[in-house]
Amino acid sequence: MNRKQSEHLYQEALKHIVGGVNSPSRSFKAVGGGAPVFMSKAQGAHFWDVDGNKYIDYLAAYGPIITGHAHPHITEAITRAAASGVLYGTPTELEIKLAKMLKEAIPSMDKVRFVNSGTEAVMTTIRVARAYTKRNKIIKFAGCYHGHSDLVLVAAGSGPSTLGIPDSAGIPTSIAHEVITVPFNNTGALKEALDKWGDDVAAVMVEPIVGNFGMVMPEAGFLESLCRLAREYGALVIYDEVITAFRFHYGSAQTYAGLANHEAIKPDLTALGKIIGGGLPIGAYGGSKEIMEQVAPLGPAYQAGTMAGNPASISAGIACLEVLQGAGVYDEMERLAVRLTEGLGASAARHGVPLTINRIRGAFSTHFCDHPVTNYDEAQDTDGEMFAAFFRHMLDQGVNLAPSKYEAWFLTTAHTDEDIDFTLEAAEKGFAKLKA
Ligand code: PMP
Repeated sequence: MNRKQSEHLYQEALKHIVGGVNSPSRSFKAVGGGAPVFMSKAQGAHFWDVDGNKYIDYLAAYGPIITGHAHPHITEAITRAAASGVLYGTPTELEIKLAKMLKEAIPSMDKVRFVNSGTEAVMTTIRVARAYTKRNKIIKFAGCYHGHSDLVLVAAGSGPSTLGIPDSAGIPTSIAHEVITVPFNNTGALKEALDKWGDDVAAVMVEPIVGNFGMVMPEAGFLESLCRLAREYGALVIYDEVITAFRFHYGSAQTYAGLANHEAIKPDLTALGKIIGGGLPIGAYGGSKEIMEQVAPLGPAYQAGTMAGNPASISAGIACLEVLQGAGVYDEMERLAVRLTEGLGASAARHGVPLTINRIRGAFSTHFCDHPVTNYDEAQDTDGEMFAAFFRHMLDQGVNLAPSKYEAWFLTTAHTDEDIDFTLEAAEKGFAKLKA
């Protein structure tokens, strides 16, 4: 496949934009380097690059594009909003409509606040939790990504439950020391951390279903124990549902049928983003009235935003959720994901390629290994070179995946059986090549 124009644009981009990309996850660093593909058009489940090559898209822009690209209902909503002025700096009725839709779907939220990204949403839930509990520390889980604010860019030190070390330059160790990182699906490590630092822990923060080291379900009882332990020690529970909300069903992970006992896993605060903006920039956070009333102008925790709740993002979000209310949309995404994962699994097995697939409804992750993936250590212990070779092969065949072994494949309402057939044919050749 010829990608000369992408290569040319990458060289140009490198001169003006740091690393040539506006988010490091878009670079091909993790898959051997070189020019990422510059796309110029997207429609439904397909992309076209600047050289005219066509791709089936399973990246879905890292999640938001669940209805496929340029969905007519969303495009119409954005166009309407643009024609009426894109930013007012005043409240609008639209914001109430989207807030109500979110509250109906996610009952743990009495009150919400819109922001501009998942990063902002998470960052603010932490501030609110600290304001409410008057404590400082947070506990998070290794491998869960919560955006790029200081506190959550902290990794585990050595040992099962340790104070964090910064994951990025520019984060003072004094801040990292306010974060404790423990392994996902490990109640013992969480308890150990709470025993040690519990009287200063403001919140336990988790992706209730993980989307950032593959798709990983919490083991039976894990979220129940997490919530019970947090409360025992007077800490709040924050769910980062930036990926998971509206991903598996019309609602969030905390109300997903795959997780039992919804009352026992109810969080105090929830952070949202991605899908709820229909592809435009958005984030939101919410929780009980009492906790949310910590936020300005009612309370002492400050959070604001010039662009927050802008009519374009809110209109796109409402339109996206309306599409997702359609009958059977999630079942259809799951049907296609089942076909695709069964096909990929069988194809890998035929060629002796070790492949673990974690699928939850219409989203899944592929791990080049022969063991289960239930936590970050297991996700790291997979063959990155094999993934990189497979990724590049699929790209050359016209299938666009995320350029990282940790990211998920997302089905959208726009994918068809024909796309699955095409993808499986490409993968069959790919697995054959890996073992050649
Ligand atoms: N939380 C989770 C679970 C995420 O996956 C992401 C982004 N991948 C974020 C937060 C940050 O969201 P944003 O990129 O919109 O700031």
